[in-house]
Amino acid sequence: MRRLRNVKIVATLGPASESYDMIRALFEAGADVFRLNMSHGTHDEIREKHRIIRQVEKDLDTPIAILADLQGPKLRVGAFKDGTAELEEGGSFRLDLDPAEGDATRVCLPHPEIFESLAMGAALLVNDGKIRLKVEDFGADYADCTVVTGGTISNRKGVNVPDVVLPLAALSEKDRGDLEFACALGVDWLALSFVQRPEDVAEARHLADGRAAILSKIEKPAAVERFDEILEVSDGIMVARGDLGVELPVQAVPPIQKRLVRKCRSAAKPVIVATQMLESMIDSPMPTRAEVSDVATAIYEGTDAIMLSAESAAGHYPVEAVQTMDKVAIEVESDVNYPAIIAGQRGGRASGINDAIVAAAREIAETTDIKAICCFTQSGTTALLTARERPGVPIIAMTSLRGTARRLCLSWGCTCVMTGELERFKSAVVNAARAARAKGFATETDQIVVTAGVPFNIPGTTNILRVAPCDERLIYRTDPG
Ligand code: PGA
Ligand code: MN
Repeated sequence: MRRLRNVKIVATLGPASESYDMIRALFEAGADVFRLNMSHGTHDEIREKHRIIRQVEKDLDTPIAILADLQGPKLRVGAFKDGTAELEEGGSFRLDLDPAEGDATRVCLPHPEIFESLAMGAALLVNDGKIRLKVEDFGADYADCTVVTGGTISNRKGVNVPDVVLPLAALSEKDRGDLEFACALGVDWLALSFVQRPEDVAEARHLADGRAAILSKIEKPAAVERFDEILEVSDGIMVARGDLGVELPVQAVPPIQKRLVRKCRSAAKPVIVATQMLESMIDSPMPTRAEVSDVATAIYEGTDAIMLSAESAAGHYPVEAVQTMDKVAIEVESDVNYPAIIAGQRGGRASGINDAIVAAAREIAETTDIKAICCFTQSGTTALLTARERPGVPIIAMTSLRGTARRLCLSWGCTCVMTGELERFKSAVVNAARAARAKGFATETDQIVVTAGVPFNIPGTTNILRVAPCDERLIYRTDPG
């Protein structure tokens, strides 16, 4: 299916979106990637959603990416006698390791590692930062806190500890089980929550062992500080604004979003801007003007993808939310100012042959009447480098590897097409011309640019650029190889 925009849409699946009809409707409305949240739902439920997505992929004959989002070391308080308790501002409250049910004076925080690494005056944030506690005194199994901002605390609410790099393994026992489950099932991307250090990514990569690409969610101040190193070892990034806006002052999030999106583009790695993009559409068929503006801003920044969370997983208007993103994207990308804004963020050009070829492909495509850039890619690198150029014409990523086609569904502008095994460049060009026509990007009288690395199966060796006609007879007549 041909999309009329470059930015991609990630839709989280949940109770509001688990039937075949709904998942197919979300795809048809514009979702390019489906996110399965491992924090919710049983393995059986996730297996069923996965099965349906693959069925839709088959029925519509187009690659679809599946992203499994691991819960990560998410901290939670234990349970309360009455299910909830009221914390008064200025009062005191104790967190400890006692599994007994809590009340208005104390509750269990079943994570001994936290008590070991606390500092006097550290902030503990409960329930998305709505309740704020300050550590006044602590020991190996307790922390006595002052309630800075009070409110209702209830069973198993999340706890954020922004000031401390936690000595927690990046992957809990549950995460390891979920990772193996997801990889065995066959997902394309694994998202890691609460990444703090580059080593966290290395561990997941080792366990995934090439079965899925690794996406790091940036939602801790420590991850922002060490972002360059984390980006280096990740295949993709999510600007996870929900937890990031709890762990840091909310006003710090927009500049971080801008910085991260630009760095990912420079590194030719896909980036997702996530959380609360159309939050009001959980309950309303109409977004707020501010939400529309937020979506537009992310697209003007050149993000690869924008994401829906509860809007598509648990809201009343999942399809409408995807349609809204689609419509905003089409409008923004056809704005006369858009090409200049996107070009302005291109950054310096890297110096390799790969980089020069993809840059040349863009220049040729934009200065002559070229309908698409078709790039042959096995590892995905040539397509990623082409996407980094953010060219003004469609990118058709041609590959014989299903995994590569699916993973590239997350990348800006990439329409992914499966090819057979290729050996000769001439047959590659013929395939590219056919794909450009079949996808509706070009007709027989048009021209395309074809890039490839020959020999075909060595990653990162883009070394050919060909301006080719879309008429196969002409290709056979004019191509030497
Ligand atoms: P979550 O991650 O939805 O898994 O919490 C995204 C975020 O924190 O923004
Ligand atoms: Mn999060």
